[in-house]
Amino acid sequence: MRHEFGEHGGVNMSIETSTTFTVLDAETMPEIFTGTRGPDMGGCYLYGRHFNPTVYVLGRQVAALEGAETGYCTASGMSAISAVILQLCGTGDAVVSGNTVYGGTFALFKEYLPARMGIDVTFVDMSDLDAVEAALNDRVRVLYVESIANPTLRVADIPKLAELAHAHGAQLVVDNTFAPLIVSPIQHGADVVIHSLTKFMNGASDYIAGAICGSTEFIMSMMDLHQGSLMLLGPTMDPRAAYNISMRLPHLALRMKEHSHRAQVLAERLVERGLDVVYPGLPDHPDHALLQSLANPGYGAGGVLGVDLKENALANQFMETLQNRDKFGYMAVSLGYFDTLMSCSATSTSSELSEEDQKAAGILPGLVRVSVGYTGSLEQRWAQLEDALNVIGV
Ligand code: PLP
Repeated sequence: MRHEFGEHGGVNMSIETSTTFTVLDAETMPEIFTGTRGPDMGGCYLYGRHFNPTVYVLGRQVAALEGAETGYCTASGMSAISAVILQLCGTGDAVVSGNTVYGGTFALFKEYLPARMGIDVTFVDMSDLDAVEAALNDRVRVLYVESIANPTLRVADIPKLAELAHAHGAQLVVDNTFAPLIVSPIQHGADVVIHSLTKFMNGASDYIAGAICGSTEFIMSMMDLHQGSLMLLGPTMDPRAAYNISMRLPHLALRMKEHSHRAQVLAERLVERGLDVVYPGLPDHPDHALLQSLANPGYGAGGVLGVDLKENALANQFMETLQNRDKFGYMAVSLGYFDTLMSCSATSTSSELSEEDQKAAGILPGLVRVSVGYTGSLEQRWAQLEDALNVIGV
């Protein structure tokens, strides 16, 4: 963790709620506007949609966690994604994206960006490096991938993708929402890392929030008064949210270890029972070795697993039994909560993909995505899970 002191030397940061900031002499104001003074140049702040001190502290903490030079936070993960893409791409430019990404990202890329912004997006299976290379033409500014993809849990070969992107004049942007602390994309060559802080980073499902990490030059460009997508589109994080999220980061490491440990044990036991399980911590996962080569030791393979029940009706029965009979977790979208969350991706968070796109991405109709929580004891949770499997007869 990075050391940040409160305004009066407190061990916790102060919350700066002001939307505007005073200067002691009038000469300073134009210097802030021209960018010769700023938060890192004389400690000067301008206006809450520009840098806010509390949000900036959280940004620096997330950047430290990602090994990035600088970071800043946003009102949601989606606003972080859209602001980064609009900073790097203009009309006529193009993006190459993994074909398995969060449904909201997919809709933004497939429908919104081409129709509204004139930015073309091509979707490629990121494990097929030849296909990625073939898609990288000279209009491509961004190669976009999720480190561990939602919901297929395919793992991105970040070093190879960074090499390919850079050889073709593009930047590698990685959404690391599923793998905080587990994978450090910037250490492997990524240029920009995005988080939905809504998920594991915050861990309590009480804030929608996002973060962007990268070079200082890039983050500053996003706050530019003339061309900055954060400054001009204004997806501003509330400083009170920044403070509360910063209070959850110190135990992120403990939480990730426990999420991963429980997901690993449940995945192994479900396999022993004869179920089809998707989890990168299992040796038969296609990216098991890749994740082992990329992952920071000690944090496991992540807190999300998939159980393929083959049919949507059975998947629904499974989730209803787990929630309503066994009190095992919640039938709800999202992930990274302290309790277990379950959803059928094909009909929820990946429903933005057509049947054909789902098929190409490997999103199966009976796949239940389980974000494994850490409440209760592991054995008690396993007993509940087994009961649900007995009830539905699998
Ligand atoms: N990225 C991933 C991988 C996600 O799963 C999600 C949401 O589920 C998002 C981004 C969007 O984040 P938010 O809901 O904070 O806007």
